[in-house]
Amino acid sequence: MLEINGAEGGGQLLRSALTLSLCTGTPFRMHGIRAGRSKPGLMRQHLTAVLAAAEIGGADVTGAALGAQDLVFVPGAVRGGDYRFSIGTAGSTTLVLQTLLPALCAAAEPSTVVLEGGTHNPMAPPADFLIQAYAPLLRQMGVDVGIELQRYGFYPAGGGRLSVAIRPAALQPLTLLARGACRSRNACALISAVPSTVAERELAAVARRLGYADAELAHRALRPAAGPGNVLSVTLQFEHVTEVFVGFGERGIRAEAVAERVCEQVEAYVKSGAAVGPHLADQLLLPLALAGGGQFTTTAPTDHLTTNAALIEKFVAVDIQIEKVDSARNCWQVSVSRY
Ligand code: AMP
Repeated sequence: MLEINGAEGGGQLLRSALTLSLCTGTPFRMHGIRAGRSKPGLMRQHLTAVLAAAEIGGADVTGAALGAQDLVFVPGAVRGGDYRFSIGTAGSTTLVLQTLLPALCAAAEPSTVVLEGGTHNPMAPPADFLIQAYAPLLRQMGVDVGIELQRYGFYPAGGGRLSVAIRPAALQPLTLLARGACRSRNACALISAVPSTVAERELAAVARRLGYADAELAHRALRPAAGPGNVLSVTLQFEHVTEVFVGFGERGIRAEAVAERVCEQVEAYVKSGAAVGPHLADQLLLPLALAGGGQFTTTAPTDHLTTNAALIEKFVAVDIQIEKVDSARNCWQVSVSRY
């Protein structure tokens, strides 16, 4: 049984441990889960991920309770099939999907998964990111994954729905060192029950700072029934990879400030020349390790990336190297190899 100190990371450490445990059949005990946080232990969204992982993997779990800081997870066999998970209010559907997807990719049978809850939550991958950036790379690695956003769900109203279809296959290594030529770039300001001037101001700020033309700016208003929400996203489509950077409107934060934060992320990525942005980097590492190898270039390593790398090396017999390849541009290379 692997012993993991949960205090060394946040929710991602737990979710990655669940995924790796399901994929390798290795049981683990995690202590000190989210120790030192203002609300330590399992919060509802973490508990949902634990229970969903247990359901697809026939796992025995001890300690799955709100606030618990100690969890024992003993996986059984992952079974494909038709699953439905309701995350409740606005809990993130995408973080639960991130936990389940690599395991269902390796199951013996195909799966469909319907997830209900938040699809666009701060501090989680937005559905568009999984659909446009993450899933195409899994397909390049050989697995047929389709993700459909059926209904938007914003924090705190929730009520969104994702529908996912997975046809499993053995993951193949991926090399993604160059992004290739730029095919398109666009910014989209999405609003629901928020004044349209918010979207207009966000797009004007993007146009000023990044020099996007009118044809590269889109304003989309959802039916107010989706509850209040505002997401500004910039999508960059290259020959070999698509990246999506987002910012969320918040009460008390000016539309221009939301746009500035998104533009900062876009500029750092564009300047680096790297193929993979910081969020995609920590999420891509796990499938690469399960495939037994691969490499990609990325921007400066985040805590999420290094924490995930250390955890993956505990479960899978791979060596993960993270090296700077271009100081001036702040471009790094991540290499995964079997030993
Ligand atoms: P944690 O903070 O430990 O709950 O983990 C959050 C996860 O969501 C990490 O895998 C992040 O890379 C991912 N994430 C957070 N924000 C974004 C974003 N804007 N786009 C894509 N992924 C994100």
